[in-house]
Amino acid sequence: MRPEILYDLFKPITALKGVGPRIGALIERRTGPRLVHLLWHLPSGLVDRRHTPKISNAIAGTVATITVRVDQHRKPPNKRVPYKVLCSDETGTLNLVFFHAHEDYLRKNLPEGETRVVSGQIETFGDAIQMSHPDHMVEEVDIASIMTVEPLYPLTTGLTMRVLTRAISNSLKEVPVLPEWADATYVAKQKWPSWRDAVLAAHAPQALTDLEPSAIARSRLAYDELLSNQIALAIIRKHMRQVRGRPLRGTGALVQRVIKTLPFNLTNGQKTAIDEICEDLCSDVRMLRLLQGDVGSGKTLVAFMAMLTAVEAGAQAVLMAPTEILARQHLATITPLAKAAGLQIAILTGRERGKNRTSALDALVKGRAQIAVGTHALFQDEVKYKNLALAVIDEQHRFGVHQRLSLAAKGNAVDTLVMTATPIPRTLMLTAYGDMDTSRLKEKPAGRKPVDTRVLPLERLEQIVDACGRAVDAGDKVFWVCPLIEESETLDVAAAEDRQAVLTSRFGDQVGLVHGRMKGAEKDKIMAAFIDGNVNILVATTVIEVGVDVPAATVMVIEHAERFGLAQLHQLRGRIGRGNKLATCLLMYGPPLTETARSRLSIMRETDDGFLIAEKDLELRGAGELLGTRQSGMPELRLADLQTHADLLAAARDDAALLLNKDPDLTSERGQAVRTLLYLFERDAAVRNLRSG
Ligand code: ADP
Ligand code: MG
Repeated sequence: MRPEILYDLFKPITALKGVGPRIGALIERRTGPRLVHLLWHLPSGLVDRRHTPKISNAIAGTVATITVRVDQHRKPPNKRVPYKVLCSDETGTLNLVFFHAHEDYLRKNLPEGETRVVSGQIETFGDAIQMSHPDHMVEEVDIASIMTVEPLYPLTTGLTMRVLTRAISNSLKEVPVLPEWADATYVAKQKWPSWRDAVLAAHAPQALTDLEPSAIARSRLAYDELLSNQIALAIIRKHMRQVRGRPLRGTGALVQRVIKTLPFNLTNGQKTAIDEICEDLCSDVRMLRLLQGDVGSGKTLVAFMAMLTAVEAGAQAVLMAPTEILARQHLATITPLAKAAGLQIAILTGRERGKNRTSALDALVKGRAQIAVGTHALFQDEVKYKNLALAVIDEQHRFGVHQRLSLAAKGNAVDTLVMTATPIPRTLMLTAYGDMDTSRLKEKPAGRKPVDTRVLPLERLEQIVDACGRAVDAGDKVFWVCPLIEESETLDVAAAEDRQAVLTSRFGDQVGLVHGRMKGAEKDKIMAAFIDGNVNILVATTVIEVGVDVPAATVMVIEHAERFGLAQLHQLRGRIGRGNKLATCLLMYGPPLTETARSRLSIMRETDDGFLIAEKDLELRGAGELLGTRQSGMPELRLADLQTHADLLAAARDDAALLLNKDPDLTSERGQAVRTLLYLFERDAAVRNLRSG
């Protein structure tokens, strides 16, 4: 249960004065639905209103706060001319300019003959000095209230600075004093303020340096976020490990038999990974290991060897994929190998119904099937296993820690191997998984040719269509990926349908379309037609749909490649060049390119080393552009910046370990404070894993 002290912060933003449903929806889109989310929305700039020149010294383009005498109101003859209020001081005259003015309002706030303080941007108009729509107009006695430094916040369409600033400043009034959760010595050493003071300071920058991630208030908040992340991961990991594992000792018989049937040799990376996994399986500590490697680096095979080892030890193993299509793909890959080993596989996805489902369930509970392949349907309540000992999760960045846990809860000491196709830099690894054991497949299987990658502006569409035509004539297949349109699946689908229509007008029914809105069966039918039927060009909307092997695919077109993250681009490109023909990846962009987008595309052209790309990806994120963390399943860090705060991350990890060692159930005074921290950052799931929650 969320502690009472946090109740106010978790009120919906519409509880704030002046925030109704319409504005609430706008703000929510930018920040999140609750007051606490406004706290995390830090200023990106500031306006310093402390400069108080005389009119003749005011410099155009700067913000000034000036004390003036109001001389005369000049009402315009028509709507197109602005309303002017002429003002002056002993050094000169200043015109205040208002478009679409309300005369009553202006006369009330700027009475002729009186003195007022106005603050805003100084402009020149011909010889005149002017200020349009001053941000503030107050009486002289109130000058202190506007001679301040105002924060500026990142906005969204339709949301004005005034509205957002007011909402945030109202939410800051609700910030409670919270007990200190960080290590006191560390806080003192860093000279950090308390959490509350840090929040208030972060929203009240006094100078540009206060806006940098390394500023003291921001560092403190970043640390808090990282600490909550590290403690949550450590709790979950510990929870998984509390259940003792059982040693799974394979005989090697099945593994040897399958290896003999392979038409190639395992790479050294694969051999090492298999050894590492088998060692984990043998031990009586539960395995929780990440298998990292590029698309096509041979992870599935490694995972299958691990599954064979479990079966040799008399147990069952499951392989879970994030989508139906991928599950079927794994099934296709594994079936011949399983046959060689004399094993039976059960398939279980959302689509298995009736008799098929019943017989799969029966095979698993009776133990006739040693291996199960499927989607999350594998861990629904009705699914029982005779003796489940190993879960392999093909993550592709789609599952959360939650699902990993519920699967692990199925067997009574299930070892878990998570496969991920995007190599993750070490720092991200830590925030996404905590201190998880890792095996990395760095080399590609022998004989793979690099993909020829080209970057082209969208206006060369016709040429690209011609190139696709040549590929199709040569008997090859083409992936055509349509861009993700911001947060709208409907628009995604519409764009893909338009593209399909254009391509169909040229290539007829050789063109197929898959998107996230289609039913499984429909999708599979088109996928099947693409893999070995008459569909030669496949238009697709998202990453999932193309996460399949199609050896004949030699061309990958990615429209608006500048909108994809590096990791995504790399993963998509990995889908071609699996056969023995030379493959081409065409990255189409819509100009103008941002600096970051340009770097991303050129990195794609220069390298196909997934680990290098992952590092670069992180560097570029540091530049402030978050690349698809949402899609990637990475935890969203709102305050921490992994480039700047790498040392804080290390400290948070160490502190989390130390704390949980001393106080595993977070019952001490500091432990209680840490619980509040976890709730503050919405890691409620982790708290539920504590013994006395
Ligand atoms: P990943 O799961 O990492 O994307 P896969 O395990 O699906 O990669 O392997 C991709 C393809 O490479 C499969 O067709 C697989 O049979 C083949 N493969 C795996 N290991 C090797 C190897 N050592 N040498 C040659 N081909 C391999
Ligand atoms: Mg694979």
